[in-house]
Amino acid sequence: MSSDAVSTAAPVVIVGSGLAGYAVAREFRKLDKETPLIVLSRDHAGFYSKPMLSNALAGNKTAASLLMKTADKMATELNASVRAGVSLQGLDTAERRLTLTDGAVLNYRDLVLALGADPIRLPLAGDAADTVLSVNDLDDYARFADALEGARSVAILGGGLIGCEFANDLLHRGIVPIVLDVADRPLSRLLPAEGSAWLRARLEAAGVTFRLGVAASRVDRVEDGGVRLALSDGSSLRADRVLSAIGLRPRVAIAEAAGLAIGRGITTDRLLATSAPHVYAVGDCAEVAGLNLPYVMPLMQQSRALAATLCGQSTPVVYPAMPVLVKTPACPTVVCPPPPEATGEWNVASTDEACEARYVDPDGRLLGFALLGTATSKRQALAAEVPAWFTD
Ligand SMILES: Cc1cc2nc3c(=O)[nH]c(=O)nc-3n(C[C@H](O)[C@H](O)[C@H](O)COP(=O)(O)OP(=O)(O)OC[C@H]3O[C@@H](n4cnc5c(N)ncnc54)[C@H](O)[C@@H]3O)c2cc1C
Repeated sequence: MSSDAVSTAAPVVIVGSGLAGYAVAREFRKLDKETPLIVLSRDHAGFYSKPMLSNALAGNKTAASLLMKTADKMATELNASVRAGVSLQGLDTAERRLTLTDGAVLNYRDLVLALGADPIRLPLAGDAADTVLSVNDLDDYARFADALEGARSVAILGGGLIGCEFANDLLHRGIVPIVLDVADRPLSRLLPAEGSAWLRARLEAAGVTFRLGVAASRVDRVEDGGVRLALSDGSSLRADRVLSAIGLRPRVAIAEAAGLAIGRGITTDRLLATSAPHVYAVGDCAEVAGLNLPYVMPLMQQSRALAATLCGQSTPVVYPAMPVLVKTPACPTVVCPPPPEATGEWNVASTDEACEARYVDPDGRLLGFALLGTATSKRQALAAEVPAWFTD
């Protein structure tokens, strides 16, 4: 048999069992019930919803109760082979072949990289720097929940979406969250200044403390079992635990070593095709047509488009308005950022109950929005006004 014939008979292989990997698998199975399908993951390969990790304390959730379906259940549902605890090690795109850390070698018809992203770690000095936690998967959440036993305060590095969500969630455990950020306001990359101020006031009223415009440089143990953070303004801060939430970096190393084009993530076109034939990338690891969008709605759009392409119907991804719900119940918030290259300005109107920010271009067209408080009820109406990206 020729190598091409081998590849045609080979399975579709998805590496990664996060929301992106399983979304592609589900969408693919809706269209093709027969082609052999393999999902590989270096973790447990069970299905869970990652966004729930930052509001799980409120519901007294454990890592076990957050697991929605085991790998075996997913395998049955998807009529797929699901292999847990196996890491992709190398990739030979000319031979359409994967090498796994258990020594196995696997041929693929098509390969989908859904590898996710790693939390960015600050280069912190100090003898407690290694105790700084981050939460980016179910195992991290289990460690975080354990570490909270007996804690009364948590310093959170990063006042973005994830940092603010964890801050709000910790309040449900009676733990004081102290949010630090080098920016002078929370959610600085998603909200206009007035929106940040509105959010900050409500989170503060609920019990969150902010230390803004400062960076942490070291974390040291103190005798009472807590830690002391040294800050860039010369001050210091005591907390029982430290959680880092300063951002994510797409996992690109294996793709890069295999010679694939890399930008902010694994570079793909709108078909989710990488620079190598028969290799695709989706989710947090992918930079799709110049954009790395680490949220659920984009990966759902990508997965639907890719499934159709894998079934022979070339389908470029389209992004409709994709509002992101910020899970801060103390200040309900929805953001729908404008496209990165957009030119326009924020128009903000606020009362005690609501803050509504509209991002409009010079012709008055709505390109994005941020809604806080009771203004969140306008989410659907405004989303319908925002034009889709990539409509050509
Ligand atoms: C706390 C938190 C809250 C969030 N809340 C929201 C929200 O409210 N709304 C929203 O839209 N987005 C939210 N997000 C973002 C959203 O959850 C992510 O965009 C999405 O889950 C990413 O899915 P993924 O499958 O691309 O990556 P991941 O879920 O990280 O999956 C990556 C998979 O790849 C596997 N893997 C990695 N390397 C290898 C290898 N070498 N070999 C084999 N397997 C490998 C991993 O084991 C894992 O299974 C949140 C993120 C976090 C961390």
